[in-house]
Order: sequence, then C-alpha cells, then structure tokens
Amino acid sequence: MRTELTKRIFIACMIVFLMSFGLVLYMLNSYLAKRNLAELQDKALYISSMIEQNSWDFLKNMQNTSNTRTTIIALDGTVLFDSMFPLEQLENHSNRIEFQEALQYGSGSSERYSESLLKKTANYALCLEDNYIIRVSMNQDSIWVLFIQMLSPMLAIIFSMMILSILLAFSSTKKIMLPINKLDPENPDDRNIYDEMKPFVRKLIVQNQQIYHQMEQLQNEHKKQDAIRREFTANVSHELKTPLTSISGFAEIIRDGYVQEKDISHFADNIYKETQRMISLVNDILKLSKLEDGNINIYERESVNLLELCQNIQERLALHAEKKQIAISCEGETIFIIGIPIMLDEIIYNICDNAIKYNFSGGYVKILVKKQDTHAVIEISDNGIGIPEKDQERVFERFYRVNKSHSKEVGGTGLGLSIVKHGMALHHAKIILESQENKGTCMKLYFPV
Ligand code: ADP
Repeated sequence: MRTELTKRIFIACMIVFLMSFGLVLYMLNSYLAKRNLAELQDKALYISSMIEQNSWDFLKNMQNTSNTRTTIIALDGTVLFDSMFPLEQLENHSNRIEFQEALQYGSGSSERYSESLLKKTANYALCLEDNYIIRVSMNQDSIWVLFIQMLSPMLAIIFSMMILSILLAFSSTKKIMLPINKLDPENPDDRNIYDEMKPFVRKLIVQNQQIYHQMEQLQNEHKKQDAIRREFTANVSHELKTPLTSISGFAEIIRDGYVQEKDISHFADNIYKETQRMISLVNDILKLSKLEDGNINIYERESVNLLELCQNIQERLALHAEKKQIAISCEGETIFIIGIPIMLDEIIYNICDNAIKYNFSGGYVKILVKKQDTHAVIEISDNGIGIPEKDQERVFERFYRVNKSHSKEVGGTGLGLSIVKHGMALHHAKIILESQENKGTCMKLYFPV
C-alpha cells in the first residue's frame, strides 16, 4: 500500500506539473504573437504616414536592416514593391489572407508556418487611401524553436520537479500512513484514525472481541473435558478396584486355609462372577473409548434392515428373558436405514438388556419397529421398575446408575446407556426416554431414513 500510495502521489504531482508547464508555454506563445502583431501594426502605421508625406518611392532608398519585409500591393494583387525580393520573382498576392482582409475591412493579419514548422511568419496589411495596400511581415521563431532553445533549462526544471515530487510523495505517504502504522491490530483504537477507516477499525474491534470470547470458550471446553477425563479415570479405577479387592480377599482366605473344602466352589463362583463383571466393564470401556475417539470412518456404513436386526436381538435375549420369566416380543414393518450394523446392534441390545434387567418377574419387553414421517422409529417398552423423573436426564451419563447395588447385582457396568448415546449421535438419531417409577420405561429411537 505504501509503495502504491507513493507512486500515485508522484504521478499526480508530475501530471499537474507537466500540464502547468504546457499551459505556461502556450500562454507565452500567444503573448509573443500578440506583441509581434502590435509591433507590425506600429511599423505599418509608421510606413503609411511616411508614404503619405513622401510617396512610397522613399522605400526604395530605405536600407533593409531589420528582419521586417515591406511589400506594397496594388488592389488587384500585383506587387508594386518588395523590400526583400526582386519584383519579377513575386507572384500575384491577391490570395493572401491579410491582403483579402485589408481589402474588405481596411486592415488584416495572418500567420504562416514554413514547411519545417520551426519558422513562422507574421503578416499585417493596411489599406491606404491611395488605393494600394501596404503589407509588413516579420519572421519569428515558432514555439518549438523556443522549446528546443530552452531544452536544457527545461530538462533541469523537469528533473528537479521530479525529485521534488518524489520527496513530496514520500513525506506525504509517511504522514498518511502514520496513524495506520500506529494501529495495533491486537488492541485497535478508533479515536486517532481517519473517519473513513473507523468502520474497518470497529469491525476489527468486534472481531477481536469475538476471538477473545471463542478462545475463552475453547479454554473452558478444554478444562471441562479435562475434568471429565479425570473423573472417568477415577471412576474406572474405582469400578475395577471393587471386584479386585473382593477377588483378592477370597483368594487370601482360601490360601490361608480358612475355607472348608465344601465351600470352595462357592468362593470360586464369586471369583468367577467378579472377573466376569470386570471383563464386561473393560469391554464397555473399550467400546466407549473407540466411540469417543471421533474417528467414525473406521465404521463401514451400509443398508440395515431394522426389523430383522431387532428380531435377531430378541432371539438372542429370549433365553435370558425366559430365566427371569419375562416375555420378549418383536413386531413391526420392514424398514431399511443406512447405518453401522454392529453399532445399531449394540444400541438396541443394550436397551433391551436393560428392559429385562430392570424388570419384575412376569413382566414384558416389547420391541416395535415402525415408520413415522421421515423417520424409522424403534420403540422398546417394558413394565419394569421404571426410572424416577429426577434421574431420567442423568442415566445417559457414564457410570450413572439409579440404584448402584441393583445394577451391580444384575451385572450392569453403568456404561450401557452412555454407549447408546454415542452410537445414536453417530447415526444422527434422537432418543426419547419416557418412564414412570414402578410402571415401566419406553425408549423411542428416531433414525432419519
Ligand atoms: P447399567 O450397566 O447399570 O445398566 P446403563 O447405562 O445401561 O447402566 O443404565 C444406567 C442406569 O439407568 C441403570 O443403572 C438403571 O438404573 C437405569 N435404567 C436403564 N434402563 C432402565 C430400564 N429399562 N428400567 C429401569 N431403569 C433403567
């Protein structure tokens, strides 16, 4: 911008200078022409008065000293006398402008350039009462000669003007740029800046504020995520520590011989259950961390038949449900969505598993697949223990359980619905939870088709 500004100021200075220069030259030329004409007029008047007193024969005796040429022309254009050329060389002058004007108006003038344009002849003609015309001519240099003669001083002037223009351009640019250079982009101030730039600076201020807020938000987000990660690590350690402590305790009393032979299988079963719980927990943690990785490209998406998928899950859970005397059913229409099959299986399996786990003996679990507007909907309802209203929002949080001991008893890890939530997000799907304590729960899953 700085160079551009300097360049433009310089060019403007030079244009103004050259135009004024040309104008002065033109005016000088006009002034000189006027002065020459006045001189010619004077001479013509002088000669005419001399003629009136002495007849024009005196001209023949007049020495031709100056560069003025005097010609006497008859009214028909015949040259009667010429101070410079012999009469036999001169043609009829009736076509000369100054002659024609003098004939018509009493006096006339004209200017003629010689072929080279370097010389100019100024003529003045005066009609005398004796019925002939006296013409005075003078050679003068044209404006170009003037220009060439003055070339070196002119070049010197042009050159100095150029240097002056450059200096002027530099200092003006510096002055113009000063408030702009002083502007601190990180801390802009719109008080000492040009009015034209105020909107720009204000925009800068607003943008800076936005960036500051965004940075603050990002930092807060970072802190929040850090806290969540720390909490998760603490939760995981705690969740793992409990079964490990039990296992260690059981092993210790068996090692020290405090357990009778017949009770050993009971203790071994406890150890087995605790390790199973730990395996489920580790599996769930692995699933969750894979989901939270954000790298969804590792999953292949394909067309999935939701009814078929739900029927398959119902079959897999049938035995488990039967043991708890719970009836599990599945019905609905065939709907295809584009999704990640293992993820969808995980989501629906977890919800159905919960519906069995948190149910009463003799209860039911119903799976319904249907289409609603632009969505495929899966409803999984049970008539189990339900979720109290105050806990409904939190059950999707990691390790959140309504009743911790009950969850552990039925083999829960507290991560199932967390996995569901992440899996649904991967499918841009929505989950709605409706539940009433001791009446039952219904989970509605909405998948865009
Ligand atoms: P968990 O492994 O403990 O089942 P989840 O994340 O799957 O963990 O569920 C969180 C909590 O939500 C459960 O501990 C349970 O208290 C409650 N919950 C989930 N599904 C149901 C349901 N169908 N009926 C009643 N409570 C449920």
